[in-house]
Amino acid sequence: MPVPPNASAELLATGAAWSEGPLWLPELAEVWWSDILGNRVLAWSARSGGTRVAVAGAEYANGRTRTRDGRIVQCSHGRRAVEELDLDGTTRTLVDRVGGVGGVRLNSPNDVVEHSDGSIWFTDPNYGLTSPGEGHPGEHEYGGRHVFRLDPATGDLRAVVTDLDQPNGLAFSPDESVLYVADSARSPGPIRAHDVLGHEVVPDRVVRMVEPGIPDGIRVDTEGRIWTSSADSVQILDPGGGLLARVPVPETVANLCFGGPDGTDLFVAATTSLYRIRTRARDAAA
Ligand code: MG
Repeated sequence: MPVPPNASAELLATGAAWSEGPLWLPELAEVWWSDILGNRVLAWSARSGGTRVAVAGAEYANGRTRTRDGRIVQCSHGRRAVEELDLDGTTRTLVDRVGGVGGVRLNSPNDVVEHSDGSIWFTDPNYGLTSPGEGHPGEHEYGGRHVFRLDPATGDLRAVVTDLDQPNGLAFSPDESVLYVADSARSPGPIRAHDVLGHEVVPDRVVRMVEPGIPDGIRVDTEGRIWTSSADSVQILDPGGGLLARVPVPETVANLCFGGPDGTDLFVAATTSLYRIRTRARDAAA
């Protein structure tokens, strides 16, 4: 099983307003995560057990990932951008427009992953434009809510999924032949699998309708199992969508990441708090 029989969610930190986007930083032995409604990035230390504000005025940062060459890439509702983040809080925009210079703005990028070819794949629902306190009110400028692939080498941005209502969490299968995307528009919400063909994807199947609540952040482990958020738990699915296990969490789960000294700790961003679940799995992308 992917978790021990007695697996539980251990409270590490609390006091956030809406927790999202956790990322383990091994060089600091810290988990950085977004407090979207608090407009800040928080850091919990595995060494001290303490929590500090890593970035204040974070422009409603949301999901983030680590690239294979060590950069932190995150989504910003406020800047309507996908950007690099340095440990001192400095950011550099990777993309904020559809159509290049002179193009129209993205909505409010939500979550992001890197493909092993170096491309950056991200979701762009509209929560930052429409949900009070999650960004700056604004207009849809390109008229959709897409999943995009960015080639940072060329700046080429292309929409790869255009038919989801609110694309949110995303993750590749271990061999990157499948892109999973969670649609958080309504409950129950689907995690959908898309076959990856080069730079394009083809909608294939609904892996599972997740309930209670919605699927938000998702991760895939080295065995191809899907770890998804929900209203009351972290749920672990086999690649066909069958429920393998669920670990209750006292608050609504928004996102999760693997990390810790050996990569098997699952850090869970859930409403006001950060939790840890000890597992027997590791992230496929690590
Ligand atoms: Mg999300």
